Amino acid sequence: MISRIKYALYYNGDLAGVSNNFIHEKSEKILVRDFSIHMKGKILCPSCLGRLAKSPAEKNYFSNGRAACFFHIKGEGLDCNLRSKPKQGKLYDTEE
Ligand SMILES: [Zn+2]
Repeated sequence: MISRIKYALYYNGDLAGVSNNFIHEKSEKILVRDFSIHMKGKILCPSCLGRLAKSPAEKNYFSNGRAACFFHIKGEGLDCNLRSKPKQGKLYDTEE
């Protein structure tokens, strides 16, 4: 698996001025299959609280049969331990 993010935090609120603990308390853990399109833009990484997106957004599988996954939105979670390290020799094309 490329993605090491097993679940995301769905947080339907304002991120400004709230503590990380507050976000953890008020958010809901969701698995890839629990994601629905209204959660778009409101799901966070459980480790770094960076914004995540699901790919593909509206399906549970890519057209090649690979399971959908969560990933950090570009520029988010740069030091996150759940972020997959860029691999040498490029095994997969990303679908971002
Ligand atoms: Zn993260």
